[in-house]
Amino acid sequence: MARNAHRVAFRTLGCKVNQVEAETIAAALIGTGAVVVPQEDAEVVIVTTCTVTGEADHKARKAVRHAHSLPQAPVVVVTGCLAAIDDGALASLGERVIVEADKSAVPARVAAVLGTPSAPATTSARAGEGFHTRAMVKVEDGCDNFCAYCIVPHARGVPRSTPIEDVIAEVRALRDAGAHEVVLTGINIGRYDHAGVRLPDLIEAVAETGIERIRLSSVEPEDVDDALLSAIGRTPAFCEHLHVPLQSGSDRTLAEMGRHYDTATYAAIIERAREAIPHLAVSADVIVGFPGETEADAAETLAFLERVSFAKLHVFRYSARAGTPAAARDDRVPPETIARRAAAVRALGGSMRVEHLREQVGRTVEVLVERTGEGTARDGSRARFAATVAAPGTLARVSVSGIDEAGFALTAW
Ligand code: SF4
Repeated sequence: MARNAHRVAFRTLGCKVNQVEAETIAAALIGTGAVVVPQEDAEVVIVTTCTVTGEADHKARKAVRHAHSLPQAPVVVVTGCLAAIDDGALASLGERVIVEADKSAVPARVAAVLGTPSAPATTSARAGEGFHTRAMVKVEDGCDNFCAYCIVPHARGVPRSTPIEDVIAEVRALRDAGAHEVVLTGINIGRYDHAGVRLPDLIEAVAETGIERIRLSSVEPEDVDDALLSAIGRTPAFCEHLHVPLQSGSDRTLAEMGRHYDTATYAAIIERAREAIPHLAVSADVIVGFPGETEADAAETLAFLERVSFAKLHVFRYSARAGTPAAARDDRVPPETIARRAAAVRALGGSMRVEHLREQVGRTVEVLVERTGEGTARDGSRARFAATVAAPGTLARVSVSGIDEAGFALTAW
């Protein structure tokens, strides 16, 4: 590390899109000669916020206050979704807080604070320092689904797609820098549409770059259609994993959430996907305790989850986000009930995960080795193995011998 380099730190909350955006900001700042350090050593802390729930807002404010209170008195630059809708309140959290809702303007704002010339946040900059063998590539931003619990459409606006030529250029740069896998990321990636190029075309175009593995961060059920499934089927690089948010296994709750499908439709979509993609692992998000959710709804959700069977569940406890229709409802579920229901869904998710991993035992799977003795299989599972099996930064074929003691990783050699 250059002794006199400017020091910046990142606190990144929320989703993968925020992570990609923070990495892009980091790359631009590294390009100006700055170094990324822990918050405690930084001159500037960049907080990328999320506002998906009231709890997310609370965490964001806490992160800003924490950074501002550090002994070295850093400047705190706040960006992300909460910054986009709520700048007055964030700016009042401290005299050294700067709110910049436009993420592409953050490197310049930070450079101005540090007194260094600014560099644009170019995509190819991400292929430099701090780069991973798996890289996220943001292809879309925004959503206009207006689910009843979600503020994101208000914070990020309607869907906008990255031009396909920019996506391809970024994937090529990542591939040339040694990446083996790209995760195409967006807020509602199924809405990708650039001059008529839709997500299935984008996947095939990305595959033509020669990148060995492709996956999607998440895709809404209604977008898992025949066009997407046949594009995936024709693309050997596409990893056998789809994350398809479910949110509830109760039709009544799904309708009240403003989701655009019912459980029968969701189940049919997953069945078609499994037919089209052998060994497909399906993961999902579930929100527990949406206003008005009854014991019967919660039981239906458990039964549905078990029936469809998932490789992994991400369980969220509902927390009201001011400004959303759901937050105005007066039939909130008590927190202790939400906690109990969430624990039940998590327990089921854990046992389904173990079951999924057990099904892999005896198979030979391809693992991207990210660290010594550790990597990610094509189905998204973590794998651990002897350090001698393969070097970090390579793809290895390993035979799965069992599940490790934590029950959450494949052990393979
Ligand atoms: S699909 Fe629904 S939950 Fe997802 S970002 Fe859009 S409005 Fe929010």
